[in-house]
Amino acid sequence: MTVSTPRPEISMAGEVEVPTAAPPWPHRDGTRITAVRAIATAPAGTPLVVVRVDTNEPGLYGLGCATFTQRWEAVVAYVEQHVARIVVGRHPADIEDITRSVGYAAYWRHGPVGNNAISGLDMALWDIAGKRAGLPVYELLGGRVRSAVPTYTHAGRATVEETLADARGFIDAGWTHVRLQVGQPGRGTYGAPGSRGGYPAAAHPDGWDVRHYLRTTPELFAQARAELGDGIELLHDVHSRLTPKEAVILARSLEPYRLFFLEDVLAPEYFDRLPEVRAASPVPIAVGELATSFVEAVRLVRDGGVDLIRCHISAIGGLTPARKLAVLSELTGVRTAWHSPADVSPVGAAANVALDVSSPAFGIQEGHVYPDPVHEVFPGTLRIERGWMRPNETPGWGIDVDEGAAAAYPAGRSGHDAWALGVRAPDGSILPP
Ligand code: MG
Repeated sequence: MTVSTPRPEISMAGEVEVPTAAPPWPHRDGTRITAVRAIATAPAGTPLVVVRVDTNEPGLYGLGCATFTQRWEAVVAYVEQHVARIVVGRHPADIEDITRSVGYAAYWRHGPVGNNAISGLDMALWDIAGKRAGLPVYELLGGRVRSAVPTYTHAGRATVEETLADARGFIDAGWTHVRLQVGQPGRGTYGAPGSRGGYPAAAHPDGWDVRHYLRTTPELFAQARAELGDGIELLHDVHSRLTPKEAVILARSLEPYRLFFLEDVLAPEYFDRLPEVRAASPVPIAVGELATSFVEAVRLVRDGGVDLIRCHISAIGGLTPARKLAVLSELTGVRTAWHSPADVSPVGAAANVALDVSSPAFGIQEGHVYPDPVHEVFPGTLRIERGWMRPNETPGWGIDVDEGAAAAYPAGRSGHDAWALGVRAPDGSILPP
């Protein structure tokens, strides 16, 4: 995308409403935010939300990821009813002050709805900053420390044989890191199919049984190492269903298979127990996608709960807090593995990659191959080539949105409710999804 970055001397007197909370400093030019909107679309079926911030300079606007797929309607309402009226009239350069102002104006300022709305604004302002400077965002972050970013992809099927066949296909296609999940009775391990009626004698025959999971997961990785060799990095996502002691049992059982990381061993309710689990775990612990504030994410790193921090960066407020988290990680020996599956928009994925190429704390990047309709709606969406990603070299994120195409893929109700409400144990009790 080519965007002009004119710097005309614009007199703004009377042209833009100046908010009552205008900052007490002068700006060196007349650039001002004129509109903030949320765009919801589902070109691949998964609801995505992107915030567009417009300015009074011709052609100068920015895009930011605000995707909270499961409750996207609430984010759209937050952006349009609460964000726009605070920031219209501000100079787009003051990213830190503007995003803090929106948070403080709400008083209660943590949580995924508000943080996704603020993230959409935050990333859009970084996009504008890049366009004003004529630079890709990663250059604003200090420039490259690596040529390209290795990604991991997901192999998750009903059986071990099918999962490993998928993994071999990814390895042949160039990936060096593969997440392995295999089917289980009930709703399955997250990322792999389940099956009905696994426990006919149980109170809930369609349940998911932790004992079966703890027994079969090491078998998956034993077979994977035997068949895939030692040259590939293997990952696994527990998806929050274990107690702290079960997490230690699983981690120790996986030691012989040298995992690159073991993800989300505990639900957020037990984050305080992560340091003890990590201390007892012989495999690296990766947690963070369910952190819904910058403070919560900082505690995970600062208190020794993680080897890799993997936040959904829009859920903690966007690029501004995430780059601070990357610096904290660099200083504490933690690595980054930003969350980036189908429920991160291409703008959010580009923000992840901007951090990845510019941060010494980089560990690995989750990679999602967006289907063609996503590229149609979001021209400039990054592509994965033989497992590697590179940032766009165009100013800002280098990603646009075709709103006509977006409208052709309206966002509907997220399917997550139906999934989550079916994840139950054989005794009938509901589990983290
Ligand atoms: Mg995960």
